[in-house]
Amino acid sequence: MSLLELADLRVTYRTTSGPVPALRGVELAVEGGQKVGIAGESGCGKSTLALSLLRLLPPGTEVTGHISLDGEDVLTMGWGRLRAVRWAAASIVFQGAMHSLNPVRRVGAQILEPILVHGEGGGDPGSRLAGLLEEVGLAAAAAEAYPHQLSGGQRQRVMIAMALACSPRLVVADEPTSALDVMVQAQILRLVDRLVTDQGIGLVLISHDLSVLASTCDRLVVMYAGRIVEEGPAGEVLGAPRHPYTAALAAAHPRIGDGASRRNPGGLPGDPPDVERLPEGCSFRPRCPVSVAGCELVDPPLWSAGAGRRAACIHVRPAEPETGAG
Ligand code: ADP
Ligand code: MG
Repeated sequence: MSLLELADLRVTYRTTSGPVPALRGVELAVEGGQKVGIAGESGCGKSTLALSLLRLLPPGTEVTGHISLDGEDVLTMGWGRLRAVRWAAASIVFQGAMHSLNPVRRVGAQILEPILVHGEGGGDPGSRLAGLLEEVGLAAAAAEAYPHQLSGGQRQRVMIAMALACSPRLVVADEPTSALDVMVQAQILRLVDRLVTDQGIGLVLISHDLSVLASTCDRLVVMYAGRIVEEGPAGEVLGAPRHPYTAALAAAHPRIGDGASRRNPGGLPGDPPDVERLPEGCSFRPRCPVSVAGCELVDPPLWSAGAGRRAACIHVRPAEPETGAG
């Protein structure tokens, strides 16, 4: 059993202008110690996925399917268990550290809070706090600071310390470095990478920026319009994309996808997907440079696209029984 398992996960927001199908059948498994990147343009459902893992979606949002975390069913567990799971089994690092931290409390007290409420008894909270600050590269004096007295990078280190405070099995980081400048971004990513590797934590790293994911993740998941359209080992997915959307994303980052950029030098035309008005058949078809007759008829499932790889494109549909070669 995987650390995290999603099966046919569907999330529909209820709005005054109608239902918004933000996730449309997501299947995903994350093993302990694995670093899984989730890529895709704004609006494709990445944050919805992160929030759904710990049932943090707005009240009234319709969620169906299955989420299993460390063998427990997240969607049906009671609230008491869910509160414990939110810190001790899995925790989330969000983009805007300034918005997630309380501006009128010293950061040391904020890091201590999950330890005092949910941490396993026994250890001394003061020494746990000192250890956490050291782990994330902050001076002990930072505990006395208020959030506005720290830089953006330091605040994101505080968020990471909070996420690690109760020794979770899984950390979900949603655009953790997008608000930071490039140098600080690289430092924070190296920090996250080292901590999850040292502690064998599963990581789900969400970013619209492929270069962020390429430098950190073992596996890459590409989302489009609320579904996974490609998945596989990060280097293979970026080096030889099987879905035209992945190819277009990689082409926008030529340092990563040299081959892809030669195939599609123009990058991706058109607008990000609007899940409220999806076309018939494949939802990528209106922007797809390789669409063919038939793409309007099939919304492709994730077909096997080589060892450990899957892609949802008519061009990888198995045409006939495998011959065993290759
Ligand atoms: P991403 O993180 O990839 O940018 P989101 O998960 O935030 O994407 O959004 C997916 C879709 O759901 C978008 O169409 C977005 O407008 C919509 N959405 C997100 N949050 C809400 C909400 N609270 N209420 C209604 N629609 C939402
Ligand atoms: Mg988002």
